[in-house]
Amino acid sequence: MHEDIEKVLIDEAEIIRGIDRVAAEITQQFRGENFTVISILKGSCVFASDLIRRIPIPLELAFVSAASYREGTESGELDLNFFPTDHEIRGRRLLLVDDILDTGKTMSSLVAAFRERGASEVQSCVFLDKPSRRDVQYEPDFRCFEVENLFVVGYGLDYAGGYRNLPYVGALRPEIYEQEAAAAVESGEPPA
Ligand code: 5GP
Ligand code: MG
Repeated sequence: MHEDIEKVLIDEAEIIRGIDRVAAEITQQFRGENFTVISILKGSCVFASDLIRRIPIPLELAFVSAASYREGTESGELDLNFFPTDHEIRGRRLLLVDDILDTGKTMSSLVAAFRERGASEVQSCVFLDKPSRRDVQYEPDFRCFEVENLFVVGYGLDYAGGYRNLPYVGALRPEIYEQEAAAAVESGEPPA
């Protein structure tokens, strides 16, 4: 798996430093009132589990799933699945947590959906932010790192379902995508 990585962009020590900083900001903002951290599956599960253990105030944890990237590296239609029940949302302060803010479509649709379901407040926290890729105007309330316009994997982020278990954030070798594109052409499928 490591041999498929061209370059480590954020190593484990740096990741922890970034999370510590953001966890302290969140702790300050949310102190005094119970709130729910909503982890957007699957990508944010690694980040959310490190993040909540650094927030030493009462909170609950819930999940929602949003799939936009099917196989390749381009953003597609959003497929949402809500696990929290209405009574877990209504009248509560929510902190939506995602792995990466790219075009902004996932986060902005989810913020709107949770407001519509009666949350008293919806804030967002992202592990990575790619501001240069934004399609919809949206700024996260909290972010650990900004990254350039490059497809990244690791620490929860996948390519075609793999690499989520890398402990760091890295860039894949271009051959990895190219192999996949070549295989798709050969099988008669349109390239992703
Ligand atoms: P958005 O709706 O903001 O375009 O996309 C957010 C989702 O796209 C993320 O939760 C993530 O699943 C996926 N995504 C965006 N950029 C990257 C990237 O560089 N690497 C990976 N692995 N996923 C990405
Ligand atoms: Mg995602």
